[in-house]
Amino acid sequence: MPAPTPSVSGMALAHLSSALDGSLVQPGSADYELSRMVHGRPCEPAAVVHAASVADVARAVVAARAEGLPVAVRGGGHSLWESLPGALVIDLAALDTIELEGGATGPGGTRVVRVGGGATWGEVADHLGGHGLAVSSGDTRSVGVGGLTLGAGIGWVVRCWGLALDQLVGVQLVTAGGDVVEVSESSHPDLFWGVRGGGGNLGVATRLDFLAHPLEGVVHASLALDPAGLPDALRAFRDVMREAPWELNGSLVATPAFGPEMPSRTVLELAWAGTDEAAAREAMAPLLALPQLLSAEVGRSAYADLLQEPPAPPPGMPMPTIVDENGWFPCLDDEVVDDLLAARESAGAAMLLVRWLGGRFSAIDPQATAVAFRAAEAFVMTAALLPPGAPEDEVSLVKAKLSPFVTHALGTYGNFTNSVLPGLAGRMYPAHTHHRLRVLKREWDPDNTFARNHNVVPATS
Ligand SMILES: Cc1cc2nc3c(=O)[nH]c(=O)nc-3n(C[C@H](O)[C@H](O)[C@H](O)COP(=O)(O)OP(=O)(O)OC[C@H]3O[C@@H](n4cnc5c(N)ncnc54)[C@H](O)[C@@H]3O)c2cc1C
Repeated sequence: MPAPTPSVSGMALAHLSSALDGSLVQPGSADYELSRMVHGRPCEPAAVVHAASVADVARAVVAARAEGLPVAVRGGGHSLWESLPGALVIDLAALDTIELEGGATGPGGTRVVRVGGGATWGEVADHLGGHGLAVSSGDTRSVGVGGLTLGAGIGWVVRCWGLALDQLVGVQLVTAGGDVVEVSESSHPDLFWGVRGGGGNLGVATRLDFLAHPLEGVVHASLALDPAGLPDALRAFRDVMREAPWELNGSLVATPAFGPEMPSRTVLELAWAGTDEAAAREAMAPLLALPQLLSAEVGRSAYADLLQEPPAPPPGMPMPTIVDENGWFPCLDDEVVDDLLAARESAGAAMLLVRWLGGRFSAIDPQATAVAFRAAEAFVMTAALLPPGAPEDEVSLVKAKLSPFVTHALGTYGNFTNSVLPGLAGRMYPAHTHHRLRVLKREWDPDNTFARNHNVVPATS
């Protein structure tokens, strides 16, 4: 990708336009300039359907197939921009309802919350917070519920409740045939297995039903560390988290300097699921005593306040070229840490993110969902920022410098890579999981209508 714009005869789109509850925006119309923007980034879709109903999504899928147009789905719009050019984009932003089921609560006081496929995690956290509930999501308010959940979803409470998709009890899916299907453990269980990790390959999720957990609040700690002490701090973080209660969750982030005003930073963010500050401080104590500690802020907060929003780039500012690698790591022992830090250093002190897993994430049967790398104790990502439009040979050079550390990984986390290169799915799943997804894909989307994603190609045998 980007793919060429397919020829559009227009008959099906003209019909679609009059049938929609929402709207169809095509190049040349006044709204196209706005509709083609994704987080300040212009894309070149063949057309954009702003779906206002589940029926709109089904109509759009059917029309796209009639026109021979590839389908791209836009939820929070945070990734895979290269998948949008030439596609019929189905924008789900208006499908953002959040409904908490009334009546009886489930195990541990959980309640089912039904979330529209276009909602964002900030909206969900705000809504549930008002009821003393939460779903472990991601760390950013504007990230979409659909995109994050269908790919996995590593959140602030991943060690307590698992991934975002581990909290799913049902999904409403518009299939490639334009059918609306309810998917759960008791209804199309195979499809339910596949949507939990198969990304958007098997259909458009128009509603996702989660088990929301009681959570009155969290204890949050933000520890600024001496960047020069990163290797020792990372090892100490690892040692503490390996033994920590599942309530303790944490990420270590090291960012390079961006000019004289923004020196390099190393920050350890910790979140304790619950409001017992004494228990939280006890679990965090070895980290609060790190010799690399420069300053620490510890206090209670609402779960929703853990979700942040990165500052939007100034309008018109060209995006840097991001060269990244990531992986699910089964064992961050000293040799792996050394390789990881050496690769990062050789790529010009690239950004580094280490999120600790284990806990509930690893207690879930690897066969239960299509996210099979449950043996990972940590997720690690590193990213180098090159100037906008950096030449291909420079990108390849940095990629080559970053790639050695992922040889220790079980596989790649698709949600944290914008690459749409063919073959990526082969790195995202163990072979048997990938094959099982390909067989499901053949059953539910044999023509690969949903190909503008981390594509799982339908099985041929
Ligand atoms: C600032 C930032 C912070 C992040 N933080 C985290 C984090 O803490 N944890 C984590 O695990 N990940 C995180 N991510 C990665 C994130 O999970 C992915 O980028 C995710 O794909 C974004 O989903 P979206 O709906 O916003 O994006 P989109 O670009 O709208 O969608 C991404 C993909 O999902 C598909 N898709 C989206 N919605 C649906 C749907 N309803 N039905 C079918 N397919 C759909 C799209 O077709 C596309 O292929 C972060 C990303 C960013 C940019």
